[in-house]
Amino acid sequence: MNIPSLKIGHFQLHWLNGGHFRLDGGTMFGAVPKVLWEKKCPADANNCIPMCNDVLLVQTPEHNILIDTGLGNKLNTKQLSIFQITSPWSIIPQLASLGLARADIDAVILTHCDFDHAGGIVMHGKDGREELAFPDAVHFIQRKEWEDVENPCRRAQSTYWPENFSLLKKEGRLTIIDGEQEIFPGIIVRYTGGHTRGHQLVEITSDGETAVHLADLFPTHNHSNPLWIMAYDNFPLEVIDLKEKYFSHYQQLNSWFTFYHDLEIKACKLDPQGKICRSL
Ligand SMILES: [Zn+2]
Repeated sequence: MNIPSLKIGHFQLHWLNGGHFRLDGGTMFGAVPKVLWEKKCPADANNCIPMCNDVLLVQTPEHNILIDTGLGNKLNTKQLSIFQITSPWSIIPQLASLGLARADIDAVILTHCDFDHAGGIVMHGKDGREELAFPDAVHFIQRKEWEDVENPCRRAQSTYWPENFSLLKKEGRLTIIDGEQEIFPGIIVRYTGGHTRGHQLVEITSDGETAVHLADLFPTHNHSNPLWIMAYDNFPLEVIDLKEKYFSHYQQLNSWFTFYHDLEIKACKLDPQGKICRSL
């Protein structure tokens, strides 16, 4: 089982398989004409392109942190066919291969609450009952995002699924964040908005090295042009501004940009012109 990984100072990053699916290529590239995006991402007969949902495991000397949770194992037959699942959620066996049990995860950071990021918060256990996948982890969500989980607008109703969040409050494993917080030394979450109303990024710093997880603001390396944004973005003009701001900020720090939805590249660095100059 090959698990891509990257060292950031004293921390270790691992990309775990949160499930592969296929989404409409046009929706993934918004207003970009198909003749342009298809050169980078060939579509199938249904106009769909393959994508992963890579859950990032961040290991510090003291803590194990997950960023997002993948698709989970609760999808029904209809959902499995709609989303064309080509590789199942394999977080737990992959953690085991790294010597970690579910109870070893100390924190789960949710960049936002769409089903492809939050589907693995609650899982079907051995007896088929719903249980927290990471029972001892504190789950960190921005306040605005949680407000939309509890009271979703009509568009969000199709991607914020109540069964993904039902146990968080009941089991006392939810921590709401307002803006910015250092969760553990070197692990900072920062409110962004843009993709969803309460979207957040994760900044990882150790020993002078930095990686940033921009989640769905920068879903794949094919979205490195700030204007190449998804039709899924709820606040598209904000996303363009946020990409310009954070690309420049983190490029100056010589930071790695890590990906969640990219099947080819797990992380990249940008040059001052915003072009990809190094990749993993
Ligand atoms: Zn996503």
